[in-house]
Amino acid sequence: MPFTAPSSLLDLPPFPADGYADIADRMGALLGTRNDVLLVQGEAIIALEAVASSLAQPGLGAINIITSPYGGLFGGWLRRGGAYVTDVVAEAGLPVTVEAVKSALDARPEAKLLAIVHAESASGIINPLEEIVALTKARGVVTVVDAVASFGGHALDVDGLGVDLVVTGPQKSLAGSAGLSVIGISPKAWALGSHEAAPVNSVLSLLDHKRLWLETGRGVLPGMPSALEFWALRAALERFEAEGLDAAIARHHLAAEATRAGVRALGLTPWVDAAQASDLVTTVRLPDGLTVGQVLQAADAAGLSGGVGPVAEHLVRLNHTGQNAQRDVVRANIAALGRAVAGDIEAGLVAVDGVYGIAA
Ligand SMILES: *Cc1c(COP(=O)(O)O)cnc(C)c1O
Repeated sequence: MPFTAPSSLLDLPPFPADGYADIADRMGALLGTRNDVLLVQGEAIIALEAVASSLAQPGLGAINIITSPYGGLFGGWLRRGGAYVTDVVAEAGLPVTVEAVKSALDARPEAKLLAIVHAESASGIINPLEEIVALTKARGVVTVVDAVASFGGHALDVDGLGVDLVVTGPQKSLAGSAGLSVIGISPKAWALGSHEAAPVNSVLSLLDHKRLWLETGRGVLPGMPSALEFWALRAALERFEAEGLDAAIARHHLAAEATRAGVRALGLTPWVDAAQASDLVTTVRLPDGLTVGQVLQAADAAGLSGGVGPVAEHLVRLNHTGQNAQRDVVRANIAALGRAVAGDIEAGLVAVDGVYGIAA
């Protein structure tokens, strides 16, 4: 449906009523799912809390994988709803191992739900999602995936893998606004979430979306739609679709490879192997004697930040997500890091350009 985006932030036209379903369909297509797609008004953390709060019920057995603070939050919300949760906590800053997940599933054969983050912006790791979903699928366990960071930057074929419930948003690889989030939910996940203790008439209620959005022909959302956020999501989608999902994934991969090459040329070591690293951020182990604070102060660059979690004091993060997944940003990040550690900046930049196919 052709309609024109507003040119000003003031006096916004209402978002067209048939535009919501269009956005849901387009997000579903990018996620590779034909399941129901819900549009949650709020940042992704709210959608994740709604999922945990809606699926949890007293006595529900759940396996919760923790590779960052996000996993910790999710487990807390499940417990608040009465679920009996086993946390599988990965080694600090590393992906979870398939063996650890398999042991937890074997030890809890009655578990009906497993929650995992696909890729972590906090540590720069990616979890072995494909292998883990193969395990849960074989056991009939509903798999909930936090794909907020990975969506758009990594391949994620929700239906192909058999992910039952996925949560994402446009604020990472799509470089959109953080105010709207998306939930893709399968019939199996709906069955788990349709119980007497499930919240209704609540911002945490998935059943409200079923009743107000899905069962009314997808013209009405729970709550008052924010035209601003819907126009912004539509704009982010237009830009992203114009590039194409595969091209965006390839762009993120190239930025990650170039960053890793630049880091090595500076004489530093990426925190994890390429096989364990996401294409969204690169974490770098700091040389002895340098603190994160010193490095960030000396680097003075928007693309560098401290690590998150228990190994944070040893790590600095180079961001190459969304619009930062491009050569000039990668170069700026490497130059800034080189300044901070007194490394060979020229060598770092040559290595970056080499990955981009540009000769010195
Ligand atoms: C960013 C992120 C979130 C939360 O996004 P907010 O915008 O803070 O709500 C959740 N999970 C992961 C893995 C993320 O990277």
